[in-house]
Amino acid sequence: MRIILLGPPGSGKGTQAQRLVQRYGIVQLSTGEMLRAAVAAGTPVGLRAKDIMAGGGLVPDEVVVGVIADRIEQSDARKGFILDGFPRTVPQAEALDDLLKQKRLKLDAVIELRVNESALLQRVETRVADMRSRGEEVRVDDTPEVLTKRLAAYRSLTEPLIHYYSERRKLLTVDGMMTIEQVTREIARILAAIVAADAKAAEKRASAKPAAKGTPRRASRKATKSSPAGRSSAKKAAKAARKAAKRPAKGVKKAVNNGGRKVARKPAKKVTKRRRKA
Ligand code: ADP
Repeated sequence: MRIILLGPPGSGKGTQAQRLVQRYGIVQLSTGEMLRAAVAAGTPVGLRAKDIMAGGGLVPDEVVVGVIADRIEQSDARKGFILDGFPRTVPQAEALDDLLKQKRLKLDAVIELRVNESALLQRVETRVADMRSRGEEVRVDDTPEVLTKRLAAYRSLTEPLIHYYSERRKLLTVDGMMTIEQVTREIARILAAIVAADAKAAEKRASAKPAAKGTPRRASRKATKSSPAGRSSAKKAAKAARKAAKRPAKGVKKAVNNGGRKVARKPAKKVTKRRRKA
């Protein structure tokens, strides 16, 4: 499972990423944490990143892409990973696409945690207070002034990724204003739909293989040409997940809020038809 968590500072990416780590046994790759470790260790990357991070700006793309490229190579990332805080710009997303393509790896989903901006300052203030009460060191960029800059950077440089992944039919939006538990359940439901659709597509491919051997050349060529297995399974998985994202879980008032953005892009009429059929 390879997932990207997308959302502004304070949207709950880190919290949800940790839960996903436990549930799926995959690693969390947080560029923020990696960069903070580099700053603490005084590495060349850390030296380049230190002041930029403290001011709420973004570290240059080539630095962060280099960090992620090295990290994805490591053996613990083989089973899958959750990217938290990466990609943060369109060039980073393009670099990630290239990286995954080179390695023939598939991105399963991009989960956007949608939150009201007005709640973010409060959330970050609570996080700071909690860290202080635990005696932990507080991040230098967790101040109201720097948070404003981080939010501005998110809006101008990271938000375009919503469109980027929506166009590629990877984006699934979850209402990050729900409780932590509800958000976790919602993400789990979406991912379960993706896993189930993938398994079904794989099953179908497996059962179609022996038949294809005996079929005339023309027919089998047509089958592979018109619906390449990888592409059709990815499409099915995305379709199932989008369908799941549209259907609120029991007891959850509004699990997904697409806020008028083109997230689930099937026309309403078609969806109703499909539901009635089911
Ligand atoms: P946030 O809660 O603001 O999302 P992070 O821990 O993810 O915090 O990141 C902290 C800082 O690290 C960012 O403000 C930025 O300076 C730097 N950073 C993290 N990830 C990236 C990235 N993908 N590209 C550029 N800068 C990054």
